[in-house]
Amino acid sequence: MSEMKRYPVDPEFAVKAHIDNAKYLAMYEQSIKDPDAFWGEHGKRLDWFSPYSRVKHTSFDPHNVDIRWFEDGTLNAAYNCLDRHLEQRGDQVAIIWEGDDPSESEKISYRDLHERVCRLANALKAKGVEKGDVVTLYMPMIPEAAVAMLACARLGAVHSVVFGGFSPEALANRIEGAASRLVITSDYSRRGGKVVPLKANVDEALADPAAARYCKKVVVVKRTGGELAWHDHRDLWYHEITAKASIECPAEELNAEDPLFILYTSGSTGKPKGLEHTTGGYLVYASMTHEYVFDYREGDIYWCTADVGWVTGHSYIVYGPLANGATTLMFEGVPSYPDNSRFGRVIEKHRVNQFYTAPTAIRALMQQGEEVLGDADLSSLRLLGSVGEPINPEAWEWYHRVVGQGRCPIVDTWWQTETGGIMIVPLPGATDTKPGSATRPFFGVQPALVDNEGNELEGAVDGNLVIKDSWPGQSRSIWGDHERFVQTYFSTFKGCYTTGDGARRDEEGYYWITGRVDDVLNVSGHRMGTAEIESALVAHPAVAEAAVVGYPHSVKGQGIYVYVTLQAGFAASDELMKALRHWVRREIGPIASPDLIQFAPGMPKTRSGKIMRRILRKIAEDDFGSLGDTSTLADPSVVDDLIAKRLNRW
Ligand code: ATP
Ligand code: MG
Repeated sequence: MSEMKRYPVDPEFAVKAHIDNAKYLAMYEQSIKDPDAFWGEHGKRLDWFSPYSRVKHTSFDPHNVDIRWFEDGTLNAAYNCLDRHLEQRGDQVAIIWEGDDPSESEKISYRDLHERVCRLANALKAKGVEKGDVVTLYMPMIPEAAVAMLACARLGAVHSVVFGGFSPEALANRIEGAASRLVITSDYSRRGGKVVPLKANVDEALADPAAARYCKKVVVVKRTGGELAWHDHRDLWYHEITAKASIECPAEELNAEDPLFILYTSGSTGKPKGLEHTTGGYLVYASMTHEYVFDYREGDIYWCTADVGWVTGHSYIVYGPLANGATTLMFEGVPSYPDNSRFGRVIEKHRVNQFYTAPTAIRALMQQGEEVLGDADLSSLRLLGSVGEPINPEAWEWYHRVVGQGRCPIVDTWWQTETGGIMIVPLPGATDTKPGSATRPFFGVQPALVDNEGNELEGAVDGNLVIKDSWPGQSRSIWGDHERFVQTYFSTFKGCYTTGDGARRDEEGYYWITGRVDDVLNVSGHRMGTAEIESALVAHPAVAEAAVVGYPHSVKGQGIYVYVTLQAGFAASDELMKALRHWVRREIGPIASPDLIQFAPGMPKTRSGKIMRRILRKIAEDDFGSLGDTSTLADPSVVDDLIAKRLNRW
């Protein structure tokens, strides 16, 4: 069905694009055949203090996982994101900041950003921060978040950004886990018209002796000016320590393999992992993917709606765009405030050319109907992107038609915190798209499908998605726990990086992510991805969102348990339940027919908006006594409601 749909590359787009299909094929081939030559050449997109002579030095052997790129080169990420642009584009806007309140916005030039970063770097240095120290950032989406990341990078300090929606407990664990000496936060954050007391959360986190043992200083940005408890021996105002700091601060000369940051995964499959990324390979990969995937050109206004607390915010709000001298938009708010047309209003206000968001946001807009963006002028848009989850073909079509007005290519970008940058994606001038498919690998990426025994599968098949060789943006370790890194990613399928995702490859070699491997269903001997059944359900006019999990079934082995959130204006009924069952049978086949359908006003989601199927699975199994790590859940009350209305009771 949906696989038949195909959107060819617009020839006019291809002519102007960085990469057309012929170029893609040639470059891809070279990147695989001779990675040293390929990356040796593309590594030059950065400014190196001292050039590298060695390019790739990597091993996926589980007894000796060792990943190094450009290992004898030296550079500085902040220098590459700022200093090298000053001569050519000092007055160009680096960051457009759009506040939660639509009347607040700010434009920061490269020169201004450079000054702010140098000031903070000097202030941090004066407080004793040195190369190799871990600095925790617990910040709202304000320019100071990017300034703080770059100030750390300038000094060679390692930043660990903790999403500003996390609890004091989650923050304390991450401060302790990274042995972080200093926290940068703000008094309050503002989101969707509400304020969150970030500084008070830090106080609470540091009431935990395990965290306080390491962290001795807290730097506070004044965002709202609201009331605060203050600890003179520990707390410092950002504006005070930076006021008199010099605007000159030499960028530390770092080795390519020196750590740039630690970042925790979203926690949708279990306890979050604190992944380590290094300086050289990460920045080469983030900047190259940003340029080619978004077909970024000089002067473009580029907007990624992620939070800097996620890897998407790191690679595609801060490091990739700024390394490329781009203008990147940073948004403090939410898509529904002051009303649901906000995304459209921001695109119109700043004449956004590339817009990159998540399926969860697209589905939320879609639930409101076609008129959701009001009469906003979207004519500046040239390209749309999606990240975070498989995008259902239905949501893809809606995004293409309503936001992209039928003329913007969509890049469905599959990647992970672990990969540092985009891995499987249609390049907009090169690859025909099929709604729901992330399509083909980026340069240097060798995806493969293997069965559960690790045998590589050929042709059009379903399997475990692995990557056969290293790419520069790859994470090097789990902070402080290299053994867990090796165990998690390199021990299951020997010689490969295990993604944990399942995928299908079609006749043309396109990849379709079918969901987490743990979520794959086995119904009467048939393997089925949850993504496919969910997509079929979302295609029904009454369904806004669907999540599918398996539960033990005496006859079929596994039964299909479906959670459905309805579109505005539809009510739950037995008729509708029957209709949905019938719909799935018709769309996919009788084998996929749901056994149990629970209407759910909300889904348990991570703070980054992903559905936590492992929690839904526990509820479906009637085994909700221990739900595992729920610290990254956005709204825990959703879970109580789901448990109360569960359908499968022993
Ligand atoms: P944890 O590893 O702690 O469970 P997580 O995997 O949700 O958390 P991230 O690294 O933020 O944390 O997410 C990466 C995952 O998101 C991928 O493994 C994949 O399952 C999903 N994903 C991201 N982009 C896409 C996409 N375009 N299509 C399909 N799935 C995607
Ligand atoms: Mg993951």
